[in-house]
Amino acid sequence: MKKINVTIWNEYVHEQETGAVGDWIRTFYPRGIHNALAENLKADDLEITPVSLDMPSQGVPDEVLNNTDVLVWWGHCAHAKVADELVAKIHYRVLHGMGLIVLHSGHLSKIFCKLMGTQCRLRWREVGEKERVWTVDTSHPITFGVPETFVIPHTEMYGEPFNIPDDGKIVFMSWYEGGNVFRSGVTFQRDAGKIFYFSPGHEAYPIYHDENVVKVIGNAIRWAAPVNGVLADRVTFQGDAPEKVYSENPLKDINTAELHQSK
Ligand code: ZN
Repeated sequence: MKKINVTIWNEYVHEQETGAVGDWIRTFYPRGIHNALAENLKADDLEITPVSLDMPSQGVPDEVLNNTDVLVWWGHCAHAKVADELVAKIHYRVLHGMGLIVLHSGHLSKIFCKLMGTQCRLRWREVGEKERVWTVDTSHPITFGVPETFVIPHTEMYGEPFNIPDDGKIVFMSWYEGGNVFRSGVTFQRDAGKIFYFSPGHEAYPIYHDENVVKVIGNAIRWAAPVNGVLADRVTFQGDAPEKVYSENPLKDINTAELHQSK
């Protein structure tokens, strides 16, 4: 069985902060969210590489990116530090079939905004309230083995309105104690690339140790993996007809090829 090559990228900033907040986060993410997710997602069919912004080539050198089937992205306060050149390379690869899982505050990452083409803004509130996640599309493979509803005891509220394009298919919806609702799990397709945004994962709580959250991310990786590999560039060319053309070409005496030349 060919394994799915998964690269888990994390900006890895909050987990290294000095002071009380950093100390608190390190009690459940001592080696960062990327390493915790890599451990919790461990499975025979996944080859997982956890990387972070502070690594050479911002954690994603060409040899890693070109070998990645599914990229998982966690970012928050360092979106602007991600090189535009790297974003362009990731964008290219997603369009050619690489899966992309965007987690939590990755909604404002350069790569997600570029792929969406919208602002991707939302409402937020950080008071440690409860979130109840509801499965909306019970037939979607991302929901396999996930209960119809589950609770995250403490989280950051992410609420509507969420400025994402309306071609997103809603897999999960969330309700918060404060009354807000949110499209917390949404899939998109951009050319050959499958994309899943999943909001649970605020860094101040051990949400990536929750078995349902881990199950959703694992399912999403398997769903987003490219079916036919990451495709080569598609060129547009004048192809020979696969079957005989019987109609007489009314313009057969005129050379129309020049209409297709860039001027
Ligand atoms: Zn957060």
